[in-house]
Amino acid sequence: MSATNTTTLLNEDIKYVWHPYRSSHSDGPIFAVKSANGVYLTLEDGRQLIDGMSSWWCAIHGYNVPALNDAIKRQLNNMAHVMFGGLTHSPAVELCKKLIELTPVKLDTVFLSDSGSVAVEVAMKMAVQYWQAMQQPNKQKFISLRNGYHGDTFGAMSVCDPVTGMHTLFSDILAKNHFIASPSCAFGQPCTIEDIGALSTLLESQHESIAALILEPIVQGAGGMKFYSADYLKQAKTLCERYNVFLIADEIATGFARTGKMFACEHANISPDIMCVGKSLTGGYMSLAATLCSKEISDTISNNPPHVFMHGPTFMGNPLACSVALENIRLLEASPWQQNINNIESLLTTGLDVCKSLDGVKDVRVLGAIGVVELKQPVNMATIQQAFVDLGVWIRPFGNLVYLMPPYIIQENELNILCDAIYQILKNKKQQ
Ligand SMILES: *Cc1c(COP(=O)(O)O)cnc(C)c1O
Repeated sequence: MSATNTTTLLNEDIKYVWHPYRSSHSDGPIFAVKSANGVYLTLEDGRQLIDGMSSWWCAIHGYNVPALNDAIKRQLNNMAHVMFGGLTHSPAVELCKKLIELTPVKLDTVFLSDSGSVAVEVAMKMAVQYWQAMQQPNKQKFISLRNGYHGDTFGAMSVCDPVTGMHTLFSDILAKNHFIASPSCAFGQPCTIEDIGALSTLLESQHESIAALILEPIVQGAGGMKFYSADYLKQAKTLCERYNVFLIADEIATGFARTGKMFACEHANISPDIMCVGKSLTGGYMSLAATLCSKEISDTISNNPPHVFMHGPTFMGNPLACSVALENIRLLEASPWQQNINNIESLLTTGLDVCKSLDGVKDVRVLGAIGVVELKQPVNMATIQQAFVDLGVWIRPFGNLVYLMPPYIIQENELNILCDAIYQILKNKKQQ
């Protein structure tokens, strides 16, 4: 695209298009991408950026992956879509079977949807419908952790961190749920009585009105990039069992090896009652998510009036999305993913370590293929975004967090460039 055409594109973008969490007016630079390949994004002006974000943690195998392209093309020649009411097809069946094999033991039934937020809505509805079927209609509330993020729709928002989720804006319409402090025990550390105490006290007094505890296992993503103790997760599961409350594991960010285990629940060796997956499910190719639940939940809902689960997205089980998801998982399983993630983890650890010496840095932490530099102050998005692009990298901070979640195929030199870019920019106050 010529320079004038690119300028026109960007001007029309400002005029007509609303981007996520952004003013409808221009509020900082925006970049037009022409194509993407491997770990590189190519901008319309020809510049190449190394991608440190995996497009919001989805593109685990990078971009323009031949096997994923082929899976979609093959499926496209058969059918792009058919309704899922009363019809089924091999991509959906194969994918659901694969997800059940791969996920913790108790999860036996899969409900497909189009996005992570909807998968969370579905999980919450499953829990509520189960307790209704069990003649316990009072169990309708949820417990979640502060700093949690579960999506942008109303149900999901009602269990997001009330401050970052701006609950005051929507207070009259959001369901009132319970929030407990996010665990302060670090990953790798045991969990103290004080940490689990809040959950234990709340469950003891309120369990009769609580349907489920929903949390992001081990890593709280968009709500603060915090890593916490597997022991906390294990104890939380035990408490849920004791008080007859479901555990919903939102693995939308953590699923598919990001934390060094195929699913983050495996760090604690627990099997949740309900689990949500999304984001990297299709390797970043299409929007698809899934909610898995135990046979007990799906049977109880189905054996009691109204005998159906009350949800059904129009594009449920889209064959293109299912076939690319299936191929994405096959590719992951066939790759030395454990070794790749371990390598990324040690390179991030060494690469980001220098940031600890910088004035404005509060904490540096790494887990699996996630590297986080937490600052004392929020960054200036417009300045820092431009500065990263000028250094040839795509890194998109939020608030006071500058982080990397690269594709698993990233090479050592590319990862070093990403880490070095963070150090260079955080060193230079003017660019933050
Ligand atoms: C991204 C995310 C969601 C929401 O997924 P969308 O596809 O954006 O709706 C929910 N939970 C977690 C943990 C996430 O990271």
